[in-house]
Amino acid sequence: ARVTVSVPGSADAGGLITASRDPESIRGAKVLVTGASTGIGEQMAYHYARLGAQIVITARRESVLKEVAERCLELGAQKALYVPGDMGTMADPESVVKFAVQALGGLDYLVLNHIGPSPYEMWNRDIEHVRWLMQVNFFSYLQMTTSALPHLEDSGGAIIVVSSLLGKMCNPFVAPYSATKFSLNGFFGTLQHELAMQRKNVSITICVLGLIDTENAMEKIKDYSSLHHIASTASDAALHIISAGATRQKESFFPFYVYFITLFRDWFAFFRDLTIQNSYHYEP
Ligand code: NDP
Repeated sequence: ARVTVSVPGSADAGGLITASRDPESIRGAKVLVTGASTGIGEQMAYHYARLGAQIVITARRESVLKEVAERCLELGAQKALYVPGDMGTMADPESVVKFAVQALGGLDYLVLNHIGPSPYEMWNRDIEHVRWLMQVNFFSYLQMTTSALPHLEDSGGAIIVVSSLLGKMCNPFVAPYSATKFSLNGFFGTLQHELAMQRKNVSITICVLGLIDTENAMEKIKDYSSLHHIASTASDAALHIISAGATRQKESFFPFYVYFITLFRDWFAFFRDLTIQNSYHYEP
C-alpha cells in the first residue's frame, strides 16, 4: 500500500498550499547530500535514510561522516557511503560527484547544502575571505551541477539548492555569506528558466530558509540577537527540503512566514530597515 503524507509549504504557491509527497518515490533513489556531517545536511541524510534512499554524503571531516553514514544504515538507507571533500578546492566538487555517480550507478538527487564558516560581524574588508567563501558556497555548487547534469538528465532527476532568507533580503553582520546566497538565487533561478526552455527534465528547487537551530547558527547569533527563540528545528527544515525537492517545486520557503517576509520586504523599506537595525544588540 502506498502512503501519502501532506507536506506544508509549496513553492509555486508561495507556501500556501499543501503538496502531496509519496514516500515511495524516495525509496531506492540515488542521492548525494553535501554538508552532511552536521546541521541540516546531517538531518537530511537521516530522513533520506528513513525513506529508504541510497545515499552518498560528503563534507570535510571523514570521522564524522563515517558516524553519520553508519546511523543512516541503521535508519534504513539501502546504501550509505561517504566521501570526504573540501569544496574550497578546485578538484573536489567534481571528484565528489564522480564518486557518487560511480558508487550509486547514477544520480537522482543532487542536494547542495554545504557552507564554509564565515564570521558573524560587521564587514571587516577581508576580500580574500569573500573570494574563498564564493568558491565554497557558490562556485562549488556550479561545479557540482555541471558534473551532475548529464546524469540527472538521464534519470529525470533533481537539484536541490539550500539557500536563505539572507539571499533575498539584506541584514547586518553577514555580508560575505549574503553575497554567496544572493548569487545562488540569481544563478539557479536563471538556470530553471533555461532548463525549462530546453525542455530538459531536470528540476531545480531553491529552498529559502529562515533561522534554523543548528549549533553553528545558534552560536553565531547568541551575542547579537535573541532570535534563537524563533528558530525552527533542523530536522523539520530537512524534511521540508526533501519534500520540496521530491515534488519538484521551484522555490520553497521554510518556515512559511519567510514567504511573507520576501513578499512584503519592499513595501515599507524605511520601517523594514529601522526594525532590522534595532533588532540586534550592537554598541559601536
Ligand atoms: P552547518 O554549519 O551546521 O553545516 C555546514 C556543513 O558544511 C557541515 O557539514 C560542514 O562539515 C560542511 N562544510 C563546511 N566547510 C566545508 C568545505 N570547505 N567543504 C565541504 N564541506 C564543508 O550549516 P547549517 O546546517 O546551519 O546550514 C545548512 C544550509 O542551510 C546552508 O546552506 C545554510 O546557508 C542554510 N541555511 C541555514 C540557516 C540556519 O539558520 N542554520 C538559515 C538559512 C539557511 P565539515 O566541517 O565536516 O566540512
